[in-house]
Amino acid sequence: MVERTCENCSEKLTGRTDKRYCSDQCRSIAKNSRKTQNSGERLMKEINNKLRHNRFVLQRFSPEGKTTIRREVLQVAGFDFRHFTHLYRTRQGNTYHFCYDYGYLLLEDEKVLIVNWQPYMEQNKV
Ligand SMILES: [Zn+2]
Repeated sequence: MVERTCENCSEKLTGRTDKRYCSDQCRSIAKNSRKTQNSGERLMKEINNKLRHNRFVLQRFSPEGKTTIRREVLQVAGFDFRHFTHLYRTRQGNTYHFCYDYGYLLLEDEKVLIVNWQPYMEQNKV
C-alpha cells in the first residue's frame, strides 16, 4: 500500500483514500495559495497583453520607427503609457520609454517621437 501524505504539510494521511489534506486548515491554505498563484499569472498575462498592444500601436503609427505624432493619437488607439519594457537615456538626458523594440520620447506640445530600438542603445540601457 502506498503511503499518502497531506499535499500541504506532508503529514501522513489516514482514512479515506481520496483524501488529499490532513485537515480543513491544510485544505484552505492550499486553496488560497493556488488562488494567489493564479492572480499573479493573470496579472502577468494582462501586462504582457498591454505591452504587446503598446508595441502594436507604436508600430502601426511608425512602421519605420521614426515619426512625430500627437500624444492623443496614441491614447485614442488604446496606448497605455504606464506600461513599458525598459528605458533608454540619451547623453542629452532624454529618456525614451520602450515597448520591446519600439520606443517613444515625450516632446513638448503633447507630441511624441516614436523610434526603433538600435543595437548601440544597449550600452545606455537603464
Ligand atoms: Zn496537512
